[in-house]
Amino acid sequence: MRVNWREIPAARNSYAVLEAACGTTGWHLDPVTEPEADITCYSLNSINERRYREEIAGAGCITIAGGPHATACWREVATYTDYVVVGEGEYTLPALLANLESGGNGMIPGVATREGYTPVKSSVRLDAYPAFSEVKGYVEISRGCPFACGYCQTPQIFGHCMRHRMIDEIVQFANRYGQARFVSPNAFAYGSDGIHPRFDKIEHLLRKLTHEIFFGTFPSEVRPEFVCEESLSLITDYCTNTKLHFGAQSGSDAVLEQLHRGHTVADAIRAAELCAGAGITPVIDFIFGFPFETDADQEATVAAIKDLSHIGKIHVHQFIPLPGTPLAGTRARSLLYATEKTCGDLALGGKLTGAWNDPEIRFFRRRSQ
Ligand code: SF4
Repeated sequence: MRVNWREIPAARNSYAVLEAACGTTGWHLDPVTEPEADITCYSLNSINERRYREEIAGAGCITIAGGPHATACWREVATYTDYVVVGEGEYTLPALLANLESGGNGMIPGVATREGYTPVKSSVRLDAYPAFSEVKGYVEISRGCPFACGYCQTPQIFGHCMRHRMIDEIVQFANRYGQARFVSPNAFAYGSDGIHPRFDKIEHLLRKLTHEIFFGTFPSEVRPEFVCEESLSLITDYCTNTKLHFGAQSGSDAVLEQLHRGHTVADAIRAAELCAGAGITPVIDFIFGFPFETDADQEATVAAIKDLSHIGKIHVHQFIPLPGTPLAGTRARSLLYATEKTCGDLALGGKLTGAWNDPEIRFFRRRSQ
């Protein structure tokens, strides 16, 4: 039975992870640019799903879809694909392939079809699977997040309990290439419960890495309240990156509270100032257009962006109500003229990147490090 992986740029790391996981049970996922027999697998996010829906529906082979959109909207996705892998795929996808090869109907835990869905009873232990194999990927060091930001799919897919890959496992993969790059919902939370930092464990990890280290840059950004002198010294002492990427998201404490972000505007400003003091350029994320954002809230965000652009780089995008999140089903509010003008001016000056007037671009472009 030949199994293919539909190449989708935004899902490159999912390919690396699932190719490695399938490899542990003898399956190889061949990269393809269109569906091919016997089986073609897709990873869909909520923007690119529209691009692939017709292709999947018209495929002349068995199709399997997973990823954040398929997880959040499995009932809908099951109307046009044969099997939906809901949630984590490392265990479920190889198990589904084995079931299909042995003549089963694919109705195993973790897989949804038009007939229904039975959830899995446990989550994946990262150390049980390689970070990647032949297909190079970032090393995922942590999964899950104890926070519940209203716009974010991460805790909905991976749960609120942080899980970590063991240090020796990370080192084995990270030292294979000249540059070590990681995936984490908050790199400074490595080894911790996600709320109380364990910088000693991060230092233990970084000490064992032998090549260039990029830590706290996309896709292993950090949270602002984890930025302190101790965490910054880990970057300056061990890492190659001269930037640190974290989310401020709004210049309004009222908005941050409604998002359940768990930090304040002052926390983000303090983090940026600490970075600058340590000789590190902060790269700070902001989101415009939350449905409850008032004109005054948006003006406060613009003011914060202007201030912070003097000491760091700003990355902005427009709010998208992703399915499965607490803010699913809401609508982004519009941008004020002054907001668009400020973003344009700062972008022209090289201080700001992102897509403040096209929310979908961020799903197709990788952010700068
Ligand atoms: S935005 Fe970050 S901190 Fe908030 S829930 Fe998502 S992963 Fe966690």
